Order: sequence, then C-alpha cells, then structure tokens
Amino acid sequence: RDRGGDWSSDVCSSDLVGLLALTCVTSAANLLPRNYEASDYYVLHIDSEAAPADIARRLGLSHEGQLGELEDHHIFSAAKHEDDRVQDAIKARRKLRKRGASEADVLDTVKLAQKQKLKPRMEKRGIIPAFKGEPSGALPKRQEVNVENPVGLARQTEVKRILGIHDPIFNDQWHLYNNQQLGHDVNVTDVWIQGITGHNATVAIVDDGLDMYSDDLKENYFAEGSWDFNDDGPEPKPKLTDDRHGTRCAGEVGAAKNNVCGVGVAYDSKIAGIRILSKLITDADEAIALNYAYQQNQIYSCSWGPPDDGKSMDAPGILIKRAMLNAVQRGRGGLGSVYVFASGNGAMAEDNCNFDGYTNSIYSITVGAVDRRGDHPYYSEKCSAQLVVTYSSGGGDNIVTTDVGSNNCATTHGGTSAAAPLAAGIFALVLSIRPDLTWRDMQSLAMQTAVTIDSADDWQTTTIGKKFSHTFGYGKIDTWAIVEAAKTFKSLKPQAWLYSPWIKVNKPIPQGDQGLAVTYDVTADMLKEANLERLEHVTVTMNVEHERRGDLSLDLISPDNLISHLSATRKNDDSTSGYADWTFMSVVHWYVPTP
Ligand code: CA
Ligand code: CA
Repeated sequence: RDRGGDWSSDVCSSDLVGLLALTCVTSAANLLPRNYEASDYYVLHIDSEAAPADIARRLGLSHEGQLGELEDHHIFSAAKHEDDRVQDAIKARRKLRKRGASEADVLDTVKLAQKQKLKPRMEKRGIIPAFKGEPSGALPKRQEVNVENPVGLARQTEVKRILGIHDPIFNDQWHLYNNQQLGHDVNVTDVWIQGITGHNATVAIVDDGLDMYSDDLKENYFAEGSWDFNDDGPEPKPKLTDDRHGTRCAGEVGAAKNNVCGVGVAYDSKIAGIRILSKLITDADEAIALNYAYQQNQIYSCSWGPPDDGKSMDAPGILIKRAMLNAVQRGRGGLGSVYVFASGNGAMAEDNCNFDGYTNSIYSITVGAVDRRGDHPYYSEKCSAQLVVTYSSGGGDNIVTTDVGSNNCATTHGGTSAAAPLAAGIFALVLSIRPDLTWRDMQSLAMQTAVTIDSADDWQTTTIGKKFSHTFGYGKIDTWAIVEAAKTFKSLKPQAWLYSPWIKVNKPIPQGDQGLAVTYDVTADMLKEANLERLEHVTVTMNVEHERRGDLSLDLISPDNLISHLSATRKNDDSTSGYADWTFMSVVHWYVPTP
C-alpha cells in the first residue's frame, strides 16, 4: 500500500488479496479523485453475485470500485450528461419485462441506483455570529470570570507538578481543570494521574482538515486513519483560510503534553483527520468518509450538520445511513464505531436536534453544551435524542485549544462544536482501558454516569431513577465516573428490536394544547417475543400533513408519565410539507432491568 501518491485501483488486483484485503477496500478504487465538472457518478447496489464489470459494460459506464466499506455498493462514472442514464435504462428494462421479455439482463441485479449530486455543505457548529437579542453571556468577557480561587490554583499547580504539565496555556483550559468555578470541568485530572491518558485509542476528526504539522498535534497524528475528501489525497491539511475548525477540535482531543499551547483531554491518544467540509461533496463520498479506516479509527467526532436555522429538517441520505449502520456492525472489529455528533447551535432559533437526522440517529451519541458556570449556553439545542452534555463556550468564556500553524493557540473555539470532540476524547480514555466495549456499551456508560446539572428546570425522574432533561440530556459527562464504571462494565447482549405496525390515524389535528392522542400498547408477551430485556432508544417514524410545520409539536408519553418531547414548535419553520417519513428519536425511556 502506498499512500504517498501512486495509488490506483490496481492495488487491489487479485494477487494482493489476502494479507492486504482489508486495506485494499479502503485505499484503492473508491478513493480515485472525482471530477464533478467532467463526470457523472452513480452508486449502484447490486446482487452479491453480479459482476460490476458486466453492469458497467451494459450501461456504458466505468467501474470506479466499491463504495468504501459498503459491500455490493459500487461507484460508476460516465461523461457528464443531464439525464440519469441508469434510471432511464432501468425504466426501459422494466417496460420490456412488462411486455414479456424473458431473456436475462444484468440490470435486474440492481437493487438501488443513485446518481450522485453535490449536496449542500454541512455547517460547522462553532461559535455563531451574535444574534439580535442574544444574552450578553454569549460574548467573551474573560476578565469577568477571572476571579482567583486560591484552593483551585493550588490544586492545579499540584496536578501539573505530578503530571509534568508545562504547556503554556493549560491554566486557561478551564474545561480540563477549572481553577475558579471549582467542579465545573470534565473531572479528568485524577484519571490522568492513574495513567489513563488515551494510549492506543484513536479518534478521527471528520471536519475541515487537521494541521498535522502543528507542533501540538504532530506527535499524535494518525496518518493511516486520515484522508482528504475535498482535495483528494492522503493528507487532510487545512487549505482555506477558515479551515481552522477541525484543527481546534483535534487539539481538544489529542494535543500533546509538551511546551506548546495546552493539552487534549486524551493527550496520548491518536488523532486522524478526515476532511469533508471544505468543498461540496456527494453522499457517496460522505459515506466513504464516515467509514474511513474504521478498523483503526475507533471514534468519529463530528461537529457539523444541517443548518441550525430552526426551519431545516434534514437527514443523511440512504448511502450515509447505510454507512453508519455498517460502521456500528462491522467497524472496530465488529464492536462498532462510536459516532459523536454536536447537538447543534440553533437553540436561539428554536431549533431542536430531533430535526437533524445525524443527531437523532440511534447510532450517534449526541452531545450538547454547558458553560463554565454550569448554565445552559444560549446556542445549545434541546431534544429527546440528546444523551449528554459537556463544557463549551458561554458564561463569558470560550474553549482554549490548538490552532492551525506550527505553534498557534485558539482562544475563540466554542459552540456545540467544542463539546463533541471533548466528549469524543473522554470516550477515547474509556476505550484506552476497555477497547472491548461496543458502541452501545459506550452509550450506556455515558447515560449511567452522567451528572445532573442544577441550572435546568426541566428534569424528569426516569423509569430507572435517573434524571433526564431535554436541555442537558442525562447531564454532564464526568470523566472520572465514566472511566471508573468502564473498568468493570459488562458488555451488553446484542441489540434487539421491537417494531410496531404502521398506525393509520387519518384524523385532523385539533388546534390548541389538547392535540390528538394515539395510543399503542406494548405487552409483556410482545417484549418476550422480541427478546427485549432493556430499552435504549425509541424511534417514531411519522407522516403528518400540515400547512405550517413549525406549529406542530409531538410528545411521546410512557405509561409512567415520562414525557419525550419528540418535536417542539419552531417559530421560523413555515414549511408546508409537514412530517414526511421523518424518524424522531428518544433516549428518555431508557430502561435497564434490575438484576
Ligand atoms: Ca501541548
Ligand atoms: Ca440543529
């Protein structure tokens, strides 16, 4: 395998299959550079027995290779043309069959065909420009919070002495050790003192690049897990002037303990960069990116998503969804890749992370923000799919981390963008001592060990006696608590599913607060039959017609009166398209049987 330059589909020729089979799949044909000006790209899902070469010949396409790690999914290219030549051919074939054509056609092996188009760019979840009417706490006023606390300073000095931390801005990294508001940090220092600093754990930062030449990052940079999907090549170096976001996120995870800037929360972990946010890409490329090197990259930190404008309702396309499912089933040797997504910054616009198909996926851990005073930051979105929160900007401060450049530090990092990588880094600490835990084990550990935050007023006591708030999920991540619990955690049994049939309601939704109630009974026998002993996620897929989507809200109420606000009203959402096959998700009803 040569990542230096001369890679091509030939790398996967049959004489190399065997030892190199695994790497071949990710590093060869499907990473051929794309030329969207000159070419069309099609993804076809075909029968396992079908030969892509036959399909290519039949349709006059070039076979570019398998779609990343997705078996039986292939990319084909052709000269640019406004028509969808694959759909046209499939339609023509269907017509012929209807008329009784009986001879075999390789087109009959196609299960799904999708012409690729460049999709709207995903938004980074960094600090957003000031809103009108934004609370003043949103603006950085560091001096205001810099009230010396002698106890905190003394302990911090002691921690630095024990660990040999000489990083110049470590004292400003209040999210790691807050020497002013004691206890308002991720509670990691005693974990480090135990020697748990991220060894052998790997986090991929899926973002706008990662400055692998930064003196703070190069020591922990993981080249084998990195790729640039925007300027095709093995090195995801930031190139645009605003390509700083990914480097800042990477610093939060894995900035080295040295004499540059501060440290990452898992400062001995490996960090990979997967660059996708700096140009338009297709669903096919995003699907490949989210599975990239998924045997080595354990955690994918994603601080981006659809617009947080309070009117978008966007989910990843089918190929991306399949890639995420593939990763939890086959990534990390079958233990499952851990996806961490930022909850979103649209709270001021009444946006809600259940309108974002990445954050409301059961396969991602959705992480919101809390500020250094323990308050809810004005931007951090609420939803029933949010599992936990961790520290970020607000309350007069930001997150201080590594920046692009050989020795540059960033002082303006924040938003839920800064919360997700911090969580990802903490999960890396967990995997450094328990690499055998599954993606669901990690969710359970995060849920179990999260700590309630006083400032929210929407806490409900759940069925298992935990507290859940739509503002803060199950609370803030406590690094010490999650690592301690991980040491003895017993892996969960495989996931079980219980499906309800479609319930057809066909009734008008009355105006006002009363709404329309639909009940669905789940009996003990149904649970037994489905082999369902625990409850983790509940998803509800809905179709609702309505002339103004932002006026709709939806609650899921359990028999013990625990309420998931699956959707909430949104002042900006004028859409007339209602809910169309949209899947909402809740983690509120998490249930673990008592042993
Ligand atoms: Ca450093
Ligand atoms: Ca959002």
